[in-house]
Amino acid sequence: MTSLSDSVAALPGVGPKRVQALNSLEIENINDLLTYFPFRYEDLQAKDPAELTDQAKVTLKGTVAGAAVLTRFGRKKNRLNFRLLLDEHTVIPVTFFNQPWLKDKLEVGNEIVVYGRFDAKRQSLAGMKILASADSGMGSIYPANKEIRQGTIQKLVTSAYETYAPVIVDLIPEPLREQYRLLHRKQMIHDMHFPADGAAAQAARRTAKFEEFYLFELRLQIVRQQDHTLHGQALHYDLPKLKAFIDSLPYELTGAQKRVVNEICFDLKRPVHMNRLLQGDVGSGKTVVAAIAMYAAITAGAQAALMAPTEILAEQHANNLAKLFADFPVNVALLTGATKASARKTLLPQIAKGGVDLLIGTHALIQPEVTYHRLGLAVIDEQHRFGVNQRQALREKGQQPDVLAMTATPIPRTLAITAYGEMDVSVINELPAGRQPIKTTWIRSNQVDATLRQVKAELSTGSQAYVVTPLIEESEAVDMKNAEAIYARFKEEFEPDYKVGLLHGRMKDDEKNAIMAAFKANEFQVLVATTVIEVGVDVPNATLMMIYDADHFGLAQLHQLRGRVGRGTRASACILIADPKNQLAVERMTTMTSTNDGFVLSQKDLELRGPGDILGRKQSGVPDFKVGDPVADLNILSAAQQAAKETVAAPDWADKDANLALAAFLSTTAHQNTTMD
Ligand code: ADP
Ligand code: MG
Repeated sequence: MTSLSDSVAALPGVGPKRVQALNSLEIENINDLLTYFPFRYEDLQAKDPAELTDQAKVTLKGTVAGAAVLTRFGRKKNRLNFRLLLDEHTVIPVTFFNQPWLKDKLEVGNEIVVYGRFDAKRQSLAGMKILASADSGMGSIYPANKEIRQGTIQKLVTSAYETYAPVIVDLIPEPLREQYRLLHRKQMIHDMHFPADGAAAQAARRTAKFEEFYLFELRLQIVRQQDHTLHGQALHYDLPKLKAFIDSLPYELTGAQKRVVNEICFDLKRPVHMNRLLQGDVGSGKTVVAAIAMYAAITAGAQAALMAPTEILAEQHANNLAKLFADFPVNVALLTGATKASARKTLLPQIAKGGVDLLIGTHALIQPEVTYHRLGLAVIDEQHRFGVNQRQALREKGQQPDVLAMTATPIPRTLAITAYGEMDVSVINELPAGRQPIKTTWIRSNQVDATLRQVKAELSTGSQAYVVTPLIEESEAVDMKNAEAIYARFKEEFEPDYKVGLLHGRMKDDEKNAIMAAFKANEFQVLVATTVIEVGVDVPNATLMMIYDADHFGLAQLHQLRGRVGRGTRASACILIADPKNQLAVERMTTMTSTNDGFVLSQKDLELRGPGDILGRKQSGVPDFKVGDPVADLNILSAAQQAAKETVAAPDWADKDANLALAAFLSTTAHQNTTMD
């Protein structure tokens, strides 16, 4: 029985050693081998001998023009001569030494491919290899390694194709194949390895990419479907109560906020497990959306939890939410690493008994000692700041709570599709009315003094300013400014007219919180800070930000930092101070000054730095594709995702005739590529 899931050991000439060598290239079965594609092709086009250089090794395709003549001289020595017709006008003599058996392959009129060394003086070719037809694979160059050579891979692919071609069936269902004008799978595999010309190779590559993305997306969609059928809690919230809460807000929700609230509430009600990502640029108002969702869960008799990445942020959320819920029967509690042991001791049993409705905190929320009475909704703020395990741990608290993960790092389409494909996504693509765009400028460090006048002018209007510095201590390796030195400088410059504060990561948590609270209360007008303030801090009266050594930050981080201003109704400004040393850094600065759109920035970041850097190297979740490039081939990726969604949306899709081959293939390759979090 031959099947593409056969081990490569089934091929002639493949013993344990070769199996191991192939495994080192992640080739285990025949399908792996047949989808181990060349990364380039040698030109198989017949060349004009006038253009060939002397002694060049070339591959020539042509027709055998005259009968081959074998001449023997001596017992083992012989010579085979024939003429090869390259095109209408060009015939060159070819000579093979000591390969008499080739004569059988040289029937007049046969099309062949010859590899050899060109002799310019004689205008002839010293043949080295002969390949039966253009199907030889001679032109295909594969990624090889020390354990297995190029020629071996070529031979094995050829032999695998010869044996297994009859069992290569289409995986992509016929209607989709037609809709996207793709090749049949057999044709695609053939043309990837043995293309007749460049156009054939290109068409095959397009189909190969689509297939790769489609299979990947199908696996994600299947996981997602399983998630949806997982028995979650149906939270029957109290709509009038929820409306009363929304009416009590000091502002009208934006259209985008209303839309995502509806999307979330729809999920809460259903007895399925919600796994939803809420994306919204900095300042788009995600917190209030989370508050509404959590209140909904609470009116349904469940508890809600909100996990934030830092103490400052957790505390800020606790204060804001306590205010929002002041007139509503919601018991809000805060639990962080800084919570005193005595307070913890009274809090934990209350959480377990259901005395706390809304628990806000840091990763302290997922410690094993914390047990919930009935956790219905878990919200994760700035979710990319948490590891996969921490997110999972919150998900596993209680009985499969619905999960709402929030992120202000706008996720480029590529990453949304590949890394988060198993989640439902809601997007807040609108800022609250009255927001002024942040005007960003870039200056050199020798222009800072001149800029301080601008800072003073801004402060004189009653506004506050952030001054961001990259590091707390002078580092020898990287020439970065010292936060303390800058603090001293600003004190000298601005006090006593304005007060200057300092916030850095080495401070104790309560110290940090006190400073943040004082800044919020306008006790300081200037806050010199390291990137501690990056995440989520909300001081609407701050309208100016200066960022030292801005070229040391990535685009996403700069955008997050910049999002700390522009939160009120007054115009805000951001001044980037940088003396970039390379073109990429220059590009980052000019990108920052040219757009405020987080999605544009993150797409640019992705192009400049790649997915790993945006989502954290290890957690990017973007798998390695063999032929497709999720950034460059985004169009194909989107189409494949759409196609995969449609495929699994049909009831009993796996039992349909058109999908049988596909379903069988997915079940035999279930081990591949599903290691998403
Ligand atoms: P982020 O999405 O960055 O977490 P926040 O939730 O902190 O943003 O909201 C930013 C600010 O916008 C807060 O001060 C919040 O009160 C305010 N806000 C949220 N929604 C609206 C709205 N619809 N209209 C006006 N202000 C809003
Ligand atoms: Mg936020």
